[in-house]
Amino acid sequence: MINDYEKKKILVTGGSGFIGSNFILYFLSKYPNYHIINLDKLTYAATEGLIEEINRNENYTFIQGSIENRELVQHIFTTYDVKGVINFAAESHVDNSIANPEVFMTTNIMGTFHLLNIAYNYWMDGVEKIKPGYELSRFHHISTDEVYGALGEIGVFTENSNYAPNSPYSASKASSDLIIRSYYKTYGLNVVTTNCSNNYGPRQNKEKLIPTIIRSALAGSYIPVYGDGKNVRDWLHVHDHVTAIDLAFHEGISGETYNIGSNNEWSNIELVEKICNILDKKAEGRLNELELESFHQLIQLVEDRPGHDWRYAIDSTKFSRKTGWVPQIQFENGLSQTIDWYIAQNQTKILQGCVEKIG
Ligand code: NAD
Repeated sequence: MINDYEKKKILVTGGSGFIGSNFILYFLSKYPNYHIINLDKLTYAATEGLIEEINRNENYTFIQGSIENRELVQHIFTTYDVKGVINFAAESHVDNSIANPEVFMTTNIMGTFHLLNIAYNYWMDGVEKIKPGYELSRFHHISTDEVYGALGEIGVFTENSNYAPNSPYSASKASSDLIIRSYYKTYGLNVVTTNCSNNYGPRQNKEKLIPTIIRSALAGSYIPVYGDGKNVRDWLHVHDHVTAIDLAFHEGISGETYNIGSNNEWSNIELVEKICNILDKKAEGRLNELELESFHQLIQLVEDRPGHDWRYAIDSTKFSRKTGWVPQIQFENGLSQTIDWYIAQNQTKILQGCVEKIG
């Protein structure tokens, strides 16, 4: 039996969001020798369900607050003797970054900087001088493939692709990635950055593409698809991302960046059609109750988002070679389970209505 003193304290930021919450659930069940401190501001994007689900776990502590709050972050480091950081905290929705970019700069850039600088001062005595006891302390920064900008018909993003962010969101993430890099190059801080493609799965905020498609369909309202629907994304199930983060945190080489994706490219219109096919099957024989012949009827093209990146595709070869990681979840199965998860949520009247109708 390991007592709490011996447990390694890991600070996870933004752990109440989509990916962070899935990560914490996985990490706590896999590693009884870790204690996770989740620092989350609980913005609109936080998952309400997480706290109840894991609050009783003795290896979990939740602290509501911002990564921009230096006093609080410093206090957490000294109180818990933090020996690792995994930084998920971010403003993450591109559309919001177009309407209100400022908070993206303060959270994603300045917040990451404060967190990183406190970790550096807590774990190191100066350039290349790691304090005894912190030799394995690592700062893992979670980032996105959107820092590379957009691709044309062919090609993939590798770790050597140029940074060319196109939205305020991706520009703020690109900035934070470069700050992380500078702390490795300048001070020798133990850092790893992972750049991942689009995630899907349970607990994603309703504003994102796949939840929007499912939510709109279940409500019987039109399913909005930007532009001509031909923009292409490389979709990865969040559980595959979580296992990749675990491996990068434990086995990645300091100072390296790793791309994570699943070679699973679909245009937005193909994706919507896939989800409608699955929903049609799930609602077989009962579609008339929704006054529909098929969910496909609800698809509607709407005005495109400004600066909408045309295509993303990720080459994960470097990461797979290093760790042996390969994604495990087949897309149709992952989508079907994700739809079931949204149907099972009783949080909104819309979904409840659908559970009654097709659940
Ligand atoms: P999310 O928006 O679902 O969750 C973000 C979480 O961060 C929320 O719980 C929010 O309350 C918290 N937060 C926001 N500002 C904060 C602050 N100042 N201090 C502390 N907490 C704060 O995001 P997500 O989809 O889970 O993404 C997590 C990370 O992964 C982000 O850094 C994002 O850029 C990156 N990423 C996401 C995807 C994706 O498809 N969702 C893909 C690649 C990379």
